Amino acid sequence: MSKFANVIVDISHEKLDKTFQYIIPKELENAIEIGMQVKIPFGPRFITGYVIETTDEAEYDFTKLKPIAGVVQDAIGIESQLISLASWIKRNYGGTFNQALKTVIPVKQKQNHIIKKILVLTIDKQYALEQLSIFEKKHYTAKARLLKELIEHQQIEQTIVTRKLNVSTTVIKGFVENGFIRIDELTTYRNPVSKLKAKGYNLVLNEDQQKVVDTIQQSIIKDIHKTYLLKGVTGSGKTEVYMELIDHIIKKGKQAIVLIPEIALTYQTVMRFYNRFNDKVSVMNSKLSPGERYDQFERAKNGDISIMIGPRSALFTPFNNLGIIIIDEEHESSYKNETIPKYHTREVAIYRAKKNNAVVVLGSATPSIESYYKAQKGEFKLVELNKRVAEKPLPTCEIIDLRQELKVGNRSILSYKLQYLIEDRLRKKQQIMLFINRRGLAGFVSCRSCGEVIKCPHCDVSLSQHGNGKLMCHYCGYTIPMPRVCPSCSSKYIAGFRAGTQKIEEMVKKRFPSARVLRMDFDTTRRKDSYEKILSAFSNQEADILIGTQMIVKGHDFPNVTLVGVLAADLSLNSSDFRGAEKTFQLLTQAAGRAGRGEELGNVIIQTYEPDHYAVKLASQQNYEEFYEKEISYRNLMRYPPIWNMLVVMCSSKNEKVSEKVSESISNILHGKIVGMENIQIIGPTDASISKINDTYRKVIYIRAKYYDNLIFLKDYIEKYARDNKEFSRAIIQFDFNPVSG
Ligand code: ADP
Ligand code: ZN
Ligand code: ZN
Repeated sequence: MSKFANVIVDISHEKLDKTFQYIIPKELENAIEIGMQVKIPFGPRFITGYVIETTDEAEYDFTKLKPIAGVVQDAIGIESQLISLASWIKRNYGGTFNQALKTVIPVKQKQNHIIKKILVLTIDKQYALEQLSIFEKKHYTAKARLLKELIEHQQIEQTIVTRKLNVSTTVIKGFVENGFIRIDELTTYRNPVSKLKAKGYNLVLNEDQQKVVDTIQQSIIKDIHKTYLLKGVTGSGKTEVYMELIDHIIKKGKQAIVLIPEIALTYQTVMRFYNRFNDKVSVMNSKLSPGERYDQFERAKNGDISIMIGPRSALFTPFNNLGIIIIDEEHESSYKNETIPKYHTREVAIYRAKKNNAVVVLGSATPSIESYYKAQKGEFKLVELNKRVAEKPLPTCEIIDLRQELKVGNRSILSYKLQYLIEDRLRKKQQIMLFINRRGLAGFVSCRSCGEVIKCPHCDVSLSQHGNGKLMCHYCGYTIPMPRVCPSCSSKYIAGFRAGTQKIEEMVKKRFPSARVLRMDFDTTRRKDSYEKILSAFSNQEADILIGTQMIVKGHDFPNVTLVGVLAADLSLNSSDFRGAEKTFQLLTQAAGRAGRGEELGNVIIQTYEPDHYAVKLASQQNYEEFYEKEISYRNLMRYPPIWNMLVVMCSSKNEKVSEKVSESISNILHGKIVGMENIQIIGPTDASISKINDTYRKVIYIRAKYYDNLIFLKDYIEKYARDNKEFSRAIIQFDFNPVSG
């Protein structure tokens, strides 16, 4: 029995980022375990903390140590495995131990289990059918929807009725009062997977898919860790490969984590897994309540489920015997956590898998330059699916030079060719997707007389024009009415500049008045489920044209889409981001992949001001390999990742002088520290690309080094220096290794 426990205190502040030692009192000797949340005296108060180590040696003056006051009853007893993962994250990405722990153990407090309400049909089928036809005649659509579903399934969960069927509780109450249904209550774990339509599974892998499965199976059989990069065009059957592998994993009594970018995590995707593996599957997403998340983790620990599907946080599912981690769309930038610690899901997944002798499969049609580079070097094993299932041909892709359009007098955002094709598809009753690269870049308001751009007073970004005539800051939410005259020169020639999604919608409606148009962007998807609703409406062919940001590039399969227009391909090229070309290539390739998923052949039109840029050109040819060669030689030349490594040190403060002073000091001590070190470079301090957010001033220092370990060494040094020096107390210092956002 150990005598002392090292406890990390549950307060997120740099200065408290160390462990405190406590005596383990006799009565708790058997209760204390690594990872447990405990109550401890701390100064005059009692607070909670995590036990991260137990030991027999007192590190401090024994007589001054205090005893642990008790165990926090409702806390999850996290595995030491996850604690060691947290410590690895802290070491590799910076931040406090607490921040790392909170990343790994997102839910601490146990929630009460919910009572599930089940609606059960109590009238006989004949009578129900009669009532249904009455409802339908009278156009009581909600009542009809509910009754139809009940006739089919006999019973349904209430939440499904209200959320998925969109039937109000008033209607449900009415059904109870009329004696149509009774409501049973069931105490259970929350299960976010709907049981509405589990269909079963019968599908045989084709030869290419089977070959990939066999290759990866070699590691699974032998229980050895390996990372595979599955490069497969969209529609080549990657998801089926994942499921087949998971099947093998489950038969071995192991568990699987499937990571999907939040935006691609659709009901359809989940149903595919559910149809095959039933209630062995659970889902996580940002819309789950803390209670639902807690329950999913409990179910994982208890062995109720074997497969967790979700965005990056699902990586920390506490499975005891993890066999595989799949990262679909592995190139997606959402796999980088953008709060502290700024970890990359791919790297953490590989670390966790290594510890578990588990396999990692990274899937993508357009692998990240990082992963392809590692595959080239032999660190990952490359496996490929080069054909679409059923040999559906890839769509034909054409680049339109917008500068030429202007020369022939076309000032519309739609080129003549695109207009012609839209007309053609409308006539053929086929569907069209119009894709605009980025929401934030479009829609800013400027004065044509003096050039003034209207900016947010709290952030160094321009305000964007929204419906209802207001201007809004996307970083802090600051909103003002659209000014009538320029605030700087009082000219009335003030207007929105480039077209945003709303503007395009208006223009398209004007140009094609008979077309039914849907728009999907940040504004139209703010409400829960609205994302799904728009996509399913389009999928049900309730609209002819879908206009949107990158959101529309992922997710659903739309077999009737035969034309995809990319309205301005270059918006993401002209950012300060060294990954600009890579992101453009990925977006264009994926947008193109949306066309011609059904029987009809598809057309893709890419409009651009830079038709000769290699990212645009090679994306139109779907030529990944050549793009990779060009891009990697650029990275090599510039010593950008993945050839070298980069660390961004951000110093921010509400006080501009403090942010300047602190960043200067860091730069100075760094220059002192790297004397004699090779293959290392320090740039800055300079203003961050957004130099002010929420009245906080931001300075950055870039460190480039060939070896990652050198960067960790410097990070540790800065952290220590910041702890020991008073001037740093008014600044916040954050680290970003190999940044993903520009
Ligand atoms: P990806 O994940 O690479 O985009 P999917 O796994 O979604 O590809 O497959 C694309 C479509 O082809 C899906 O509708 C899927 O059900 C179907 N499919 C995949 N593999 C097969 C197969 N072996 N036989 C028949 N249909 C398949
Ligand atoms: Zn002006
Ligand atoms: Zn702002």
